[in-house]
Amino acid sequence: MPELKNNYFEGILFRYESYSCDCVEDVFHTSKDEEPLRNYKLQAITSEKKLFAYAAQHGLVRIANNGTIEESNILGRLISLPKKPFKELVSFMTDNGFLFPVSAENYESIDAGTLYHLIGRIKNTVELMTAINEIKKDYDQIFRLLMSLLFAPDFILKTKSMVEEYRCCHHPYVDLLQNPNTELSDSRKQEAFDNEYFTINDTVYSDYKLNTTEYNDIVSGYSSIPGYSEPLFKSITALYMNYNGNYSNRRITDFLFHFLHEVGSVRNDLSFYSNPDYSKLTNELKRAMLDVSKIIIGEEINANLTGIHPVYDIGKMSPSWKVDSLLCAAYFSIFYLNPELELYRPCQNPRCGKYFLVRTTSTRVRYCSTACCNRVTQDRYRKKKREKEDK
Ligand SMILES: [Zn+2]
Repeated sequence: MPELKNNYFEGILFRYESYSCDCVEDVFHTSKDEEPLRNYKLQAITSEKKLFAYAAQHGLVRIANNGTIEESNILGRLISLPKKPFKELVSFMTDNGFLFPVSAENYESIDAGTLYHLIGRIKNTVELMTAINEIKKDYDQIFRLLMSLLFAPDFILKTKSMVEEYRCCHHPYVDLLQNPNTELSDSRKQEAFDNEYFTINDTVYSDYKLNTTEYNDIVSGYSSIPGYSEPLFKSITALYMNYNGNYSNRRITDFLFHFLHEVGSVRNDLSFYSNPDYSKLTNELKRAMLDVSKIIIGEEINANLTGIHPVYDIGKMSPSWKVDSLLCAAYFSIFYLNPELELYRPCQNPRCGKYFLVRTTSTRVRYCSTACCNRVTQDRYRKKKREKEDK
């Protein structure tokens, strides 16, 4: 069993033990017109123990038999898998084991699509965390990431060896949108009678004036403006008018209403009707977008910390953490990240694509290593040379 060398790391925050895992693919062809179903078969190799630790500035690392770091930045490698061929997933499992416990006696089966959903959720969470903390912010990217997390489809994952099934994070805001109250209060009815607009005491502009005819058109589904009659926008507008619950939900509502109303409206599949007009994205709305992103990131991380338990190490008389799965360890390493100081960026070498930890202030670092940087420079040089020769 690999052991951590004494004092090798200062400030080990948690460790996790697991096994290497064999991974093969079963492909079922159901009909010639349909995509085949893909299942991954997983089996733990108990002769190959793996030890992980989290240490500040190193991220989630795997420890070698001699107690040194065998591989650093396990999280960055994990979230680069969705864009890589199956053999990369196999080699990840060989090196690190599966994300949850699996049987050592026989193969256990999981659906390939569900596994990539799960990894995609971690990737989007990390990317959103990076995007909102970059010094130069890409608000279009932030909007797309936050929408894809907030409205991500629910899924469940279970292997026979897992005590409980894994349920992905479900954002409670989505439930609010199911049956929003469209009935106006008496004072609102009076307001509509007295004025041409409602005054909404929202968290973005504090007193926004919404035209009463426009409101009625939206909630009745008769608006002629593209996107305003989508069920999603109708629900958000109804909440915008009537919601009086907690601050987080109010903030999400106010942001979504103004973004979809003024910047760009989306279809129910979240695609834009036309190019969003980012000149309408005011500083108030930018601040709201960052707040909403933080709420969503917080919910994603919190939902995945349930497999982490505090334990007291009697031998060392010190506090420590027990982590139930590699997935928990991955989320725990996101939880400990201080994005004001360091964040994950994807390596711009298309052949690598690994997410690497970089100081937030190092805005120009785009490659995970000098090797990747050199490779891209060489590729560019060769391409230019070829183009010259062709002329
Ligand atoms: Zn790279």
